[in-house]
Amino acid sequence: MQADGEFDLISRYFKKPAPARMLGVGDDCALMPLSPGYELAISTDMLVEGRHFLPDADPESLGHKALAVNLSDLAAMGARPLACTLALSLPAVDHAWLAGFSSGFHALARESGCPLVGGDTTRSDTGVVLSITVLGEVRRSHALRRDAARVGDDVWVSGTLGAADLALRLTLGRLPPDPERLRATLPALDRPVPRLGLGRYLAGVANAAVDVSDGLLQDFSHILQASRCGADLWLDALPAHPALAGLDEALRREALLSGGDAYELCFTAQPQWREQIQVLGSQLEVPVTRVGTLVRGTGVRVLDGAGGIVPVVRQGFDHFSAPHGARA
Ligand code: ADP
Ligand code: MG
Repeated sequence: MQADGEFDLISRYFKKPAPARMLGVGDDCALMPLSPGYELAISTDMLVEGRHFLPDADPESLGHKALAVNLSDLAAMGARPLACTLALSLPAVDHAWLAGFSSGFHALARESGCPLVGGDTTRSDTGVVLSITVLGEVRRSHALRRDAARVGDDVWVSGTLGAADLALRLTLGRLPPDPERLRATLPALDRPVPRLGLGRYLAGVANAAVDVSDGLLQDFSHILQASRCGADLWLDALPAHPALAGLDEALRREALLSGGDAYELCFTAQPQWREQIQVLGSQLEVPVTRVGTLVRGTGVRVLDGAGGIVPVVRQGFDHFSAPHGARA
């Protein structure tokens, strides 16, 4: 963006003093040291107006969520955040929006130790487009890679599933209005909490991990493909958010198995680590639930309480196979 005001905008909303030993916003590049014995973990996620968020989305929540979904990728790799960059494309300079967005963004950046150290700002001819890159560090050879799961591993899920999916359906009017359920589930959709502490401590304990952004079955199947194994998942063991109680069973299953935006970690670990993982979860106050096991073969079998195979309608969300506008 070459128009007057670009640099004012950056210094007003995005420039913060860089932490010690780092060079932040204001030069051609940011600089930061890496701890000895660690490697860099890098991830980028985009958020596009009309596709990932609605035009009237609360800007402060959006600032939080835009960073949270990126931090969730660091968590799923077992990495500790170092810093982030923000590329922002805006149709116009809207000070109320920028103030809200930047305050949500910086609050989570502070809380998670992930300062904003650079970015780019341009004008958009369509809606708001955001692209965030997070940089983290992970002890060399300790990262939670998707290709490192092994037959015999337990499958675990953090937190609960289904709330964000339910909130999205209610928000979009795809379910009959239910203000109480909406109130109970909206925080999961608007303010996901990246599982950074858990991910960090799992590095060196768990074998493989993903974060659940597009649906449990879909994201977990990336581990299975990369690691060349199959899995049994136990439907009754899946940790359902309390707001799913009393829902129609087909809807409940779909929210649990295929609901997006959960930002929980799904990870695999050898059975010898069961107790340690439970202790870790209680110390961090993050529920951890054992939901299945890895087997020889390919793909996921979802089993009900009687050991029967549960038919699966939809794996999860895919931008290029879903009907246009299927997801906000
Ligand atoms: P360049 O011309 O080298 O691309 P810019 O003029 O785009 O630099 O940006 C000036 C400085 O402001 C750089 O340090 C850049 O990283 C930073 N910056 C630009 N936009 C943002 C933003 N949205 N958030 C944080 N930093 C930004
Ligand atoms: Mg630039």
